[in-house]
Amino acid sequence: MSAYIRVELQQKIRKHFSECCAYCRTAEFLTAMTFEFEHILPLSAEGETVFENLCFACPSCNRHKSTRQTAIDPESGETVALFHPQQQIWTKHFAWRERGKELKGLTAVGRATIEALQMNRPALVRARGMWIKLGEHPP
Ligand SMILES: [Zn+2]
Repeated sequence: MSAYIRVELQQKIRKHFSECCAYCRTAEFLTAMTFEFEHILPLSAEGETVFENLCFACPSCNRHKSTRQTAIDPESGETVALFHPQQQIWTKHFAWRERGKELKGLTAVGRATIEALQMNRPALVRARGMWIKLGEHPP
């Protein structure tokens, strides 16, 4: 599902997330993809099209997140809420390892979000390795 998002609001969201995916932190300019505006609380769950409920996301994270709001923490087996890019601080839940090639979840929320959104998918880990060599990653 999609909703019309005013150009000014799109610009505010892009700037707020420094033109990087709010989940995997990939910079849009490093990819050949156009990033998307993601409803954190999905439209299907009455999520509103307002700044507080929108984030900038790469197509892969957006697709894997879809309308999900929770996921399973692979460590505890508990169902937890997915990371909320507007209400939670990325560095409290995620850290880079191997100089930026892979993401590590620091909390149940971080671990569950990495798994659910496949934020360490092999193609992305390979691409990060190239971006590191170019000195363009991590952001
Ligand atoms: Zn992403």
